[in-house]
Amino acid sequence: MNSVLLLVLAAALFGLWWLHRRDTRADGPVRLPPEYFRGLNHLLNEEQDKALEVFLRLAQTDSESVETHLALGGLFRRRGEVERAIRIHQNLLARPTLSDDQRRLALLELGRDYMHAGLLDRAEALFGSLVEGSRPHPEALEHLLTIYQREGEWEKAIDVARRMLPVAPEARAVIAHCHCELAEKALAHGAVARAEQSLRRALQVDGRCVRAHLKLCDLALAAGEPVHALRQAVQVLRIDPDFGPEVFGRAVACVRLGARPDEFEAELRRHDPPPPAWLPGLTHYLCLTRGAAAARERLERALGQHVTLEGLQVWLSLQRDLEAGPFVERLEEWLRAVSGRLPAYHCRQCGYRGSRLYWQCPTCRSWGTVRPLADGLAAVE
Ligand SMILES: [Zn+2]
Repeated sequence: MNSVLLLVLAAALFGLWWLHRRDTRADGPVRLPPEYFRGLNHLLNEEQDKALEVFLRLAQTDSESVETHLALGGLFRRRGEVERAIRIHQNLLARPTLSDDQRRLALLELGRDYMHAGLLDRAEALFGSLVEGSRPHPEALEHLLTIYQREGEWEKAIDVARRMLPVAPEARAVIAHCHCELAEKALAHGAVARAEQSLRRALQVDGRCVRAHLKLCDLALAAGEPVHALRQAVQVLRIDPDFGPEVFGRAVACVRLGARPDEFEAELRRHDPPPPAWLPGLTHYLCLTRGAAAARERLERALGQHVTLEGLQVWLSLQRDLEAGPFVERLEEWLRAVSGRLPAYHCRQCGYRGSRLYWQCPTCRSWGTVRPLADGLAAVE
């Protein structure tokens, strides 16, 4: 991670150098001192102390260079010396000779300093000034989005993410999750109709938002509308079969409340063999609707094609119900002990693993990247 940050910084510095060269080309070719590139080289080699030494010396001999001061400020911030970083960037901004691009860069850096120091109000004001008008700074938009999410200001987050859409279509998923957060907030206050409205908005922005469908399914179940709820469950299977494990318990509830399962079961038949992670839920569902013997038959067919720890555990449970025996019970206990330690979800962005479904990854903060593990066996690699 550290090396990635340094690479990004180095790339940014290269951009600065290019801007500097472009801005001053009218006066003939401008050469940055060789020391400057030595500093960059240290950065690329993750030698922060040496880089700092070079840039400090440069700042003393060439007090006018904006690039050197920006590099220094960034280095101090990275080392946790945020106050020094803030001072450097504030001094830079006090210069009347800065070009427009340089001023925007210095403002962005100062905003980052404030974020780092936890001064979110000040950071928000600075980034806000950078996204006004027709040329919003893309990085400032990203930082604003982070701040609003951190503060749970979902409406503001939606506004910012909408402005990012022209260059970042993936912001669609973020907007949908923000609407889902608004729905959760409304539900916490008992405002069910408002929650539903937010979930529908989520689906208008991103029709593939599994979270909104699952929540609508729950709301319909709570309202005693199992037919409508089961339709939402079918949508989830269609959009992303990996979320099957989240669906079966809900489908069982819908059928128990009287919903006809035709459409749902037609969707199930499209997945033969069923994904390994479906087996516990699917078997439970079939037990309820077709009886234990039929469920076992389907399970054995699936295990014949692809055997998994989770599938074996389900098979043993069924076996115990059908023909109980001490050996089967002990084996089942051991398997439960082993699989109980396994994480059930993982983040496809950063690799985080855990036993709970988070819609925003607790490690990398990405939305919708934590998903059920596709295969029980994958967890014991
Ligand atoms: Zn993650």
